[in-house]
Amino acid sequence: MTETEARKLLELAEGARAFSYSPYSGFCVGAAILTESGKIFTGCNVENASFGATICAERTAALKAVSEGERRFTALAVVGGRKDAPCDERCAPCGMCRQFLSEFVNPKECMVILGTSEGSVDIRPFAEYLPFGFTNLEE
Ligand SMILES: [Zn+2]
Repeated sequence: MTETEARKLLELAEGARAFSYSPYSGFCVGAAILTESGKIFTGCNVENASFGATICAERTAALKAVSEGERRFTALAVVGGRKDAPCDERCAPCGMCRQFLSEFVNPKECMVILGTSEGSVDIRPFAEYLPFGFTNLEE
């Protein structure tokens, strides 16, 4: 994963963030997933009046990928921040998303990319986000 590739994925995540439906928190998140076959799927957070029904941007993107036959993710980019404001701080995937995504990644190879509007980019393996994730599949 080069920095140029990471920045492209972040740009797509930022584009998806524009579609965030977040009337309750006002926190808009966008995500982009690169799959093993080279396809990219984006997603935004979608909130609900029944808060538990809310779905994060990362899982929206993952569901789009899996529902189109893509089950191996090689990179994930995430950006998030207040509505109509720049993304000043890095927005890491929540615990539920980390567990959800672990089903579809090689934790040592899949890269998680976090960015801010000022252009900072943080790239590290998924394994650093979920060191002891629950898995029931034999690799
Ligand atoms: Zn999440």
